[in-house]
Amino acid sequence: MIDLLVRGGLLVDGTGAPPRAADIAVDDDRVVAVAPEITDEAYTVIDAAGLVVTPGFVDIHTHSDLTLLSSPQAPSALTQGTTTQIVGNCGLGVAPRTPEADLDEIRASAAYLDLDPDVRVDWTTIGGYLDTLRSARPALNVLTLVPHGPVRASAVGFDARPATAPEIGAMVGLVAEGLQDGAAGLSTGLVYSPVCFAEEDELVALGRTVAAHDRLFAWHVRDYTDHLLESVAQCLRVARATGCRTQVSHLAAVGRRNWGRVEQALEMVDDARHDGLDVGVDIYPYLAGNAPLAQAVPAELQAGGDEALRERLDDPATVRALFAEWADRAVGWDETLVSWLPGSADSGLLGRTVTDIAATRGESPDEVVLDLLRRYGSSALAVYFGRDAHDLERVLRHPATVVASDGLALDPTGPTGRGTPHPRCYGCFPRYLSEYGRADLAAAVRRCTSAPARRVGLTDRGTVEAGAVADLVVLDLATLRDTATFEDPHQLSTGIRDVVVSGRLALRDGRLTGMRAGQVVALGS
Ligand SMILES: [Zn+2]
Repeated sequence: MIDLLVRGGLLVDGTGAPPRAADIAVDDDRVVAVAPEITDEAYTVIDAAGLVVTPGFVDIHTHSDLTLLSSPQAPSALTQGTTTQIVGNCGLGVAPRTPEADLDEIRASAAYLDLDPDVRVDWTTIGGYLDTLRSARPALNVLTLVPHGPVRASAVGFDARPATAPEIGAMVGLVAEGLQDGAAGLSTGLVYSPVCFAEEDELVALGRTVAAHDRLFAWHVRDYTDHLLESVAQCLRVARATGCRTQVSHLAAVGRRNWGRVEQALEMVDDARHDGLDVGVDIYPYLAGNAPLAQAVPAELQAGGDEALRERLDDPATVRALFAEWADRAVGWDETLVSWLPGSADSGLLGRTVTDIAATRGESPDEVVLDLLRRYGSSALAVYFGRDAHDLERVLRHPATVVASDGLALDPTGPTGRGTPHPRCYGCFPRYLSEYGRADLAAAVRRCTSAPARRVGLTDRGTVEAGAVADLVVLDLATLRDTATFEDPHQLSTGIRDVVVSGRLALRDGRLTGMRAGQVVALGS
């Protein structure tokens, strides 16, 4: 008797090979056989006749670091077919940090992913985080990157200045320790405080550390609006200087006046790849992003951390200068939707554009944003439109692109189910496969499975073959689609019928089974 048999489906195996009829035998957490017909007896049989079987989706760009502790069941992710998430992206996170570092300020700087105040942060290392996550028993597999934010906060604090040589040495030490603890790489986020104060020598030193461990360096580059190309150029310069495996995160040109520039950015990526550098790209299939509203504030005003930012916004001269800068924003306030504010006092504002809120209040949009920043600092989140459908298609077609949600694992019935988060949290992969993937399903599935798995150094996931970990999705192409919208995002996708995580059925007939068999993966161990 084997544990599980998936019978009669059309297998799209994640390698890019054409779909073929195949049965799949699973024992414990591994695929043990893939063949046109398997006649073994099994404890559980999944009839996949008329359905498509794929590897589970590997989401290499998420921010579920803390929400997986609040909601280890991860319904928003499982119901879209995700079986592995990589957290620790965009430089945002709470560890690794030194014991002396200011945890409150670090949590404030990572407010984007810190949605449930009841989650206690009592680890300081990547190893401690992975242990905490193991105790929470997540329903999907998890890897983490080392986020640059808490590393810099530990070595330099929130000062707006370059790091000294000893401080860079301290950061290298923290990053190396995180990689030795099993992190899949390092992430930076050069728009967010305190990482926005990092200069290139710091990034090169950290890149060398990543290269020495043969891990991935993921970049939320300094700017995706008017300075996109210089920002991608910096990322590629560091890749050249260090030789480290590099990921340009969520590549997009934001703001109408910048549309079309992804073409040049992709050419730069092509040049680097042509020169032998291992550079990849990821993107989510939507025409809007999601970030703290504080992203609209220039780096120098963020010096000293969140509290200092909020105080500075009481100074009339500062506010005048800020409003003058905002007059020339790449993304208008009418394209900016308030998506999350802590507490419930202002829940009536969620899901509305800044312009709309301003009209109701009889204020200017700038005044509305100022008010929200003064009261909520980095915890105020927004969805930003202003992107081009052709740009998105260009990025999605590029050979180095993988699909990644940039979302968070959320639970519509729990503390993370509030507000109007980006619908990618619920619908990224069904949306991509149903809207962009039908013409060449095998290639599309590869971009969601083996391609991202290899980017982060996972060799035994992302394909369906004997010996691989049994992460599987059984889906119905006829009903596959995302239902989460910007107005009403807490909606589960349809068409993902069964999901197997590490050999166990986590979703059956579209319903969560309660099984939480996700593996917390430490690389190199
Ligand atoms: Zn991100």
